[in-house]
Amino acid sequence: MHFLLPIGLAVIIGLVSYLFSVNKTKQALDLKSKPLQSPELENKICALAMALDLTHLNVNVYNIETINGLAAPGGQIYITQGFLSKFNKGEVSATEIVSVIAHELGHVALGHTRRRMIDFSGQNALRTALSITLNRFIPVIGPWLANLAVTIIAARMSRKDEFEADSYATALMLKSGLGIQSQKSLLQKLNKLTGGAESVPAWFMSHPKAGERVKAIELNEKKWTGTVS
Ligand SMILES: [Zn+2]
Repeated sequence: MHFLLPIGLAVIIGLVSYLFSVNKTKQALDLKSKPLQSPELENKICALAMALDLTHLNVNVYNIETINGLAAPGGQIYITQGFLSKFNKGEVSATEIVSVIAHELGHVALGHTRRRMIDFSGQNALRTALSITLNRFIPVIGPWLANLAVTIIAARMSRKDEFEADSYATALMLKSGLGIQSQKSLLQKLNKLTGGAESVPAWFMSHPKAGERVKAIELNEKKWTGTVS
């Protein structure tokens, strides 16, 4: 019984720190972002909105240099300034940017952004429980193993989310008439831009490898359209 108290505490600490970080994230995002204003992108974002039966879809630009898209826990969608700059320089196409927006919409629609709250405290509790239990049998190395195991499980869950969001994006891009060529070409470009990630063992990676993602996208494409573009 005595190991239940630290687990309970871990859950509470996990929840409180999550709420703090949600708040901080929201503040940082609000301070450093502005609504996206680009007629060329607007047109294509409109196509996504129509496919979702929405009259309008708000997208914001987060003023950091990293190349990324993100969905805030409240459901707002952001692309980074770094990503937008690539578009302005002609290195990334409008449809490629929109494919990232579709992917982020997937995270929101499939409840990934909200579920992370439960995952976060759950992971902390699991880490503590496993550490305490394993420490009885193998001191020092036990807790280290527990951490490793939880990290691998968390990476696995997060990879699953990525495949699901990709799959949602493929369906949405097809429905919007934008096609999925850009979804695939962007993944291949990002792979080149971020380089080194491929050497990290796959169990630790929170994002699946680009090649695996493209393969999964093509499986859906074949299933839904009968052909691969
Ligand atoms: Zn994602």
